[in-house]
Amino acid sequence: MFKKILIANRGEIALRVIRACREMGIQSVAVHSTADSDAMHVRMADESVCIGPPSGTQSYLSIPSIISACEITGAEAIHPGYGFLSENANFVSIVQDHGLTFIGPTAEHINVMGDKITAKETMRKLGVPCVPGSDGGVPTLEEARRVAEDIGYPVIVKATAGGGGRGMKLAKTAKDIDVAFQTARSEAKSAFGNDEVYIEKYLTLPRHIEIQVFGDGKGNAVHLGERDCSLQRRHQKVFEEAPSPAIDQETRSRIGKVCADAVASINYAGAGTIEFLFEDGEFYFIEMNTRLQVEHPVTEAVYGVDLVAEQIRVAAGEPMRLKQEELLPKGHAIECRINAEKLPEFQPSPGKVTAFHAPGGLGVRMDSALYSGYSIPPYYDSLIAKLIVYGEDRASALARLDRALGEMIVDGIHTTTPLFGALLQEPAIQSGHYNIHWLEKWLEAQ
Ligand code: ADP
Repeated sequence: MFKKILIANRGEIALRVIRACREMGIQSVAVHSTADSDAMHVRMADESVCIGPPSGTQSYLSIPSIISACEITGAEAIHPGYGFLSENANFVSIVQDHGLTFIGPTAEHINVMGDKITAKETMRKLGVPCVPGSDGGVPTLEEARRVAEDIGYPVIVKATAGGGGRGMKLAKTAKDIDVAFQTARSEAKSAFGNDEVYIEKYLTLPRHIEIQVFGDGKGNAVHLGERDCSLQRRHQKVFEEAPSPAIDQETRSRIGKVCADAVASINYAGAGTIEFLFEDGEFYFIEMNTRLQVEHPVTEAVYGVDLVAEQIRVAAGEPMRLKQEELLPKGHAIECRINAEKLPEFQPSPGKVTAFHAPGGLGVRMDSALYSGYSIPPYYDSLIAKLIVYGEDRASALARLDRALGEMIVDGIHTTTPLFGALLQEPAIQSGHYNIHWLEKWLEAQ
């Protein structure tokens, strides 16, 4: 087992990894920008190294600084968290060239899945059902018009290198295709430095259902059921739950097996998520994320596993402990992503937290790097806390969420906490009858 792990991240996910390290008897090294000198992850780690100025590009994305921090501290492995360098194949290669271990999949798997076109081709060949769409990239407007006609409107133009909901444009009819194609391309160019786009059938009322998979890199893999992440704003997840109110055990086992077999056959290592749209009882693959997801705690709650500890074990060459026949979901879990943002416009609201009180009690988990007196810097993403509740069934999880939200105090800044209290009053949330458009429509009506 590793003696020392460096965490190339910040915020709640850095704490999540430090906690796993501590429980496993592994020393942890935090890295931080000058804006994060007082951050909780720096305080909680065994050691810390300042790796640059506030801008992410010059700190948490600076590969030379992170490698140097490993060399200075003697860390043997790097956990990337999510975001930043977590899906950067070049980083993985450099880490390995320095004799260090990357806690995650191989550079090759990150490359294949990071390009959404090759990801779809690979999944289709492995027997995973995909959204109907173009065969590969669509280079010209003429071809975009032709492909869209073939698929049938509405269609969605998506960036091959896409992520975070950017570079995605809907064309409802033939009138919209020119603008959708051009704007998706220019958005993709500026966000990802790659203007390649592809076209998919636009599913009108799907749910977003994703399957958690885990592989040992030696041809064995398991699935840990689904998460329902249909409540989204601007294609970004806001509220997630497991299991999905729309999936029964037979469906879960069937799609879960397809996913586990697919990743086993490519010798996938570590945690991964296969994302689908689910409509009229059918699954349509959209992308695979080759990292730990923000919403992984809902899976941990219903399966009773520690995904980060398992990532570390597999990366260290120990056998995977997860066994498919032992993996059965029990109870229900819900996660709320609480952002430092001002409602109703969701403007960023960084600044000093004058008072903080985390909810607690049975079935409540709060993953947050906040503390009283902490100043949230304006340079990074606005997620400040994940409130995860667990109950024996969906109704008790909802009641517990209501109770936990009532206990939470974050003073001095604006947060999105009131949104979740309001959502709990909605019959669609209470019954679980919602799709990927429900939240945006509801927000518009407020
Ligand atoms: P990103 O990598 O930017 O997150 P995804 O491909 O995962 O992009 O899609 C994010 C969200 O966009 C989905 O959860 C869904 O809400 C919407 N979306 C993507 N593709 C389609 C599609 N073919 N039809 C309808 N909605 C889609």
